[in-house]
Amino acid sequence: MLLDDRKKYLDAEGGTLFGHGSYHIALMYPNPYSVAMSSLGYQVIYRLLNEHPDISCERTMLPDDPEALRRTRKPLTTLESGRPVGGANCIAISLAYEPDLAGVFEMLQLARIPATRAERGDDFPPIILGGPITMSNTLPLAPFADAIIVGDGEPVIQPLVDALLTEVRTGSRQRLLDELAQIPGVYVPARHDSAVPSMLLSPTSDLPAIGQIWTPHAELSNMMLVETSRGCPRFCSFCVMRSTAQPMREAPLQSVIDVMQTDAPRIGFVGAAVSEYSHIKAALRAAIEHGKGVGISSLRADRLDDELVELLTAGGYRTMTVASDAPSQALRGKLKKGLRGKHLIRAAELAASHGMRVFKMYVIIGLPGETQDDLDELVDFSLEIRKIMPRVALGLSPFVPKLHTPLGDATFTPIKEQDKSLKYLRRQLRGRVDIRSVSAKWAWIEYRLSQGGTDIGLAAYDAWRAGGRFADYKRAFDAMQAPERDALEQARNHGLWQPAGMR
Ligand code: SF4
Repeated sequence: MLLDDRKKYLDAEGGTLFGHGSYHIALMYPNPYSVAMSSLGYQVIYRLLNEHPDISCERTMLPDDPEALRRTRKPLTTLESGRPVGGANCIAISLAYEPDLAGVFEMLQLARIPATRAERGDDFPPIILGGPITMSNTLPLAPFADAIIVGDGEPVIQPLVDALLTEVRTGSRQRLLDELAQIPGVYVPARHDSAVPSMLLSPTSDLPAIGQIWTPHAELSNMMLVETSRGCPRFCSFCVMRSTAQPMREAPLQSVIDVMQTDAPRIGFVGAAVSEYSHIKAALRAAIEHGKGVGISSLRADRLDDELVELLTAGGYRTMTVASDAPSQALRGKLKKGLRGKHLIRAAELAASHGMRVFKMYVIIGLPGETQDDLDELVDFSLEIRKIMPRVALGLSPFVPKLHTPLGDATFTPIKEQDKSLKYLRRQLRGRVDIRSVSAKWAWIEYRLSQGGTDIGLAAYDAWRAGGRFADYKRAFDAMQAPERDALEQARNHGLWQPAGMR
């Protein structure tokens, strides 16, 4: 991180921690600062590690301009003290999505740390990985990590720190790996091979999860982030958060109200199913009564009513953001979304009547069985909503089948077809509906990483070293097709990622 950036970011923050322990952990987020500071999980781990008297945990994130840092010929540093990341006792990395793996390679190179465990040996700090990505597919990360936390991080912090301090006492990396491998929910590739342990879930007592830093430079600007519930009670067949995989756990209302004592100007309610939280209205009301603005990460259209939308607007929420998740009613039904067009129309009416400015709808395209009729229905439906709300925005994402979901074995719709659908939707809605879309090429990379084994992680590393363009990934992935399948088959035979509650 460059000195100028460090000063700019630190000066604007509330809640910065400066740990005093002698064991240094560099907490890495493979995206720029604005994204890192909008990640609740990253902030929770930052605080929990710094609460330990022996630990000093400092953040490091992908520089806004990595080339500028390279030109200085200086290594990547931490944000708080500007120490070289490579001088830390341990590197902890938070990963949200498969494509973020490229950011990990970039940051490790900037820190002058070899990316693979095989290259590093025992001469570099141990690397511990964790984050939402582990709910989907862990194996591609295995070549790069000494240990991977599968599932929630909170329950393993204490035993993890104990194990790390053991390495300091004994000077033995092998002893560290042995201890880490004993912790439930911690996958140690050098000990477990490809048998990933079952996912560990936090008890309800860990909720609400609360952020630490608020800053105007975050995408979720000036917000204290709060996760009132974890998991989701629904059964959408494409989603890793579906209730069969992770039962929803809720925080008591009073503990959420206690969060409002913060100096942060806004409260950001984040999580997979915020509008499903039983006390969401009371929590929003408490935030407003404490003089806070509110933000909310996702709304289910069928949970909205006049009172909820009034509270949101009173808290300064101006863009109604909902997920349709499919272009047509028939496909929403197939996804078991439990949502009808009338709910989305009602959401638009509520947004209009409360003076909101924008109606934003997330839609997945390239779903199994999708036809031209489904796309036409999306065009007609978007125009119908536009009669209610003057500004309509569609966020389009190609469908990426995720392991351990009912649609996990679905095929990825060819990139050419996805591009054709996108082009069609843009042409039909040009000048009337704002369209943002995720590139089908990068969704394909995500798909391959989310379905593959350890070999695909190594292939992604090759692709990144070759330049990191789509053609580099295509070449690298195509070259390793057979071994990838073997690894995946092996992983499936071990029954990996079966959540604790499902065993
Ligand atoms: S898509 Fe949303 S509502 Fe459906 S299971 Fe996932 S988090 Fe829940």
